[in-house]
Amino acid sequence: MGERIRGRKGVALRRARLEAEPLCRMCKAEGVTRRSTVPDHIIPLAQGGEDVDENIRCLCEEHHDQVTREEFGYRERPEFGADGWPVPPGGGRKSFGRRGGNRR
Ligand SMILES: [Zn+2]
Repeated sequence: MGERIRGRKGVALRRARLEAEPLCRMCKAEGVTRRSTVPDHIIPLAQGGEDVDENIRCLCEEHHDQVTREEFGYRERPEFGADGWPVPPGGGRKSFGRRGGNRR
């Protein structure tokens, strides 16, 4: 309300959005209760999304990482074993907790 300081307004907005949705939406969809830490744009600004509350969902860091990677078309590249077959990274898709651990 009448705020003019952009930087601070951004921080306040971020905080307000996290307070409005304190639990990660994607975790909740899976029946998991986890604190959200990142307000995420449902439609990325880079793809024409607007910076409005309707376009915001709050996510935990892991889910935010995951959707960001998917939005930017990143796929984890399978590694190939000595026999020429792809090796699943970390033995499957459950390794959310490992940040940047798959890089060689
Ligand atoms: Zn989550």
